[in-house]
Amino acid sequence: MPTSVHQLDDGAWLSVNDSREVNVSDLWWLARHEFCDCAMADFLAEGFVEIGVDYPNVEGRIAGQCIACGESGVTDWLTLGRVVDPEEGTFSPVDTESVHIPRRRQRLADASE
Ligand SMILES: [Zn+2]
Repeated sequence: MPTSVHQLDDGAWLSVNDSREVNVSDLWWLARHEFCDCAMADFLAEGFVEIGVDYPNVEGRIAGQCIACGESGVTDWLTLGRVVDPEEGTFSPVDTESVHIPRRRQRLADASE
């Protein structure tokens, strides 16, 4: 079945297939990012801004703040988790305490070729 993703409660929750999966209030380690000048951003997530599916990954852009330098803004696309079983709609969230690398989304444009 198609995977449906939503943000709920003003971006506080990521919902996958109508089940609340990820609460945004986490610290994320961001590497190779353009969010702020820190080599590794210690990013406190405050709200999902955009959510999308780049199968099998569920991705999102998150508003928040780097608690190391105080910079606030919105990240590039981060992988939030993975749909491990599309038939059942089973979702496996990423471990936010590992290192994450935001990326600009380019694959959508490539898909039309
Ligand atoms: Zn920073």
